[in-house]
Amino acid sequence: MHFSTRAIHVGQEADTATGATIVPIYQTSTYTQEEIGKNKGYDYSRAGNPTRTALEKCLASLEDGKFGLAFASGCAATTNVMSLLRSGDHVVACDDLYGGTYRLFEQVLTRFGITFTFVDMNNNDAINNAIQSNTKMIWIETPTNPLLKLCDIAEVSTIAKSKKILLAVDNTFMSPYFQKPLNLGADIVVHSTTKYIGGHSDVIGGGVITSNEELYLDMKFTQKSIGAVPGPFDCWLTLRGIKTLAIRMKEHNKNAIAVANFLLNHPKIEKVNYPGLESHPQYELAKKQMTGFGGMISFEVKGGLESGKKVATATKLFALAESLGGVESLIGHPATMTHAAIPREERLKVGLKDSLLRLSVGIEDQEDLINDLDQALSNV
Ligand SMILES: *Cc1c(COP(=O)(O)O)cnc(C)c1O
Repeated sequence: MHFSTRAIHVGQEADTATGATIVPIYQTSTYTQEEIGKNKGYDYSRAGNPTRTALEKCLASLEDGKFGLAFASGCAATTNVMSLLRSGDHVVACDDLYGGTYRLFEQVLTRFGITFTFVDMNNNDAINNAIQSNTKMIWIETPTNPLLKLCDIAEVSTIAKSKKILLAVDNTFMSPYFQKPLNLGADIVVHSTTKYIGGHSDVIGGGVITSNEELYLDMKFTQKSIGAVPGPFDCWLTLRGIKTLAIRMKEHNKNAIAVANFLLNHPKIEKVNYPGLESHPQYELAKKQMTGFGGMISFEVKGGLESGKKVATATKLFALAESLGGVESLIGHPATMTHAAIPREERLKVGLKDSLLRLSVGIEDQEDLINDLDQALSNV
């Protein structure tokens, strides 16, 4: 079956109890047992719930993986992956991470004796130099947030495999529609399903996918033990979003290409970061490892911080808001919003300037979006 068919059907067969065509919201915490030690596969909803099972199967299928796990948020999914590690373990992570992931790594997991080295994942020497005898995992995001830098998943996976280190990829920005890290050698894929997978900015959720049974069983055990599971209604909303993932991603991609080209040619724009532009330094890699370029763009307005702030507050369709991946367009100012948890000197070191703006291009009419940015830019 192809992707768009799987999105609508995998894990979502007609309900065996009633024939309901759409997976029901099994709003129950517990299950009546047939007799002691005999049940229908469910005993308590932290351990398992049929609506969640449907979502987990569908997520696995979309990433071409064998096993899926759903969580209460993307950060909960990341925490669950990190619980594969032990005190004393070391992680090499990319230096342009989602702010919440950076905060979790640096301010929470370090309390448990896990250490991190952040490196430029486009530099194999830097990765190799950062690897220590206790390095157990490499964590990457590609494209990165908010600079849209790419990392060659197949290449990093070769390094990881040669040293028997796990490779985890946060695939939130591309969604499985445009990029499938497991097929490129990753061991684990993580999603904030809050974003493209849910797609409607109405639910917080996370997902983890792997084809490695040993890792799956360990993470399923910690999922139940830690308990950061999504409720049945959240799983249902996410599944409802997934049904249109393929058509939404095509529209996000089409609109973002048009918006990126508009910005590129605008006299008040200093720089545009979008992997679908030939001017992107890794355009060739983008075409190689992704089947589309996604809906995320970041750019610098001439005139620095002040101009950037003016544009961010002057758009009418692009709402000034955190988050991304919904059908509606959003604009954000990473330095004060999504990435405020990262110290300023760290931000500047990786090229995240105070004037940078980030767009999540939605699926509204392309011309309306461009007109909105055009009027906002006329204010600076
Ligand atoms: C939003 C996001 C997360 C965190 O997900 P939540 O659902 O907000 O917990 C992780 N990684 C990336 C790339 C994100 O955009």
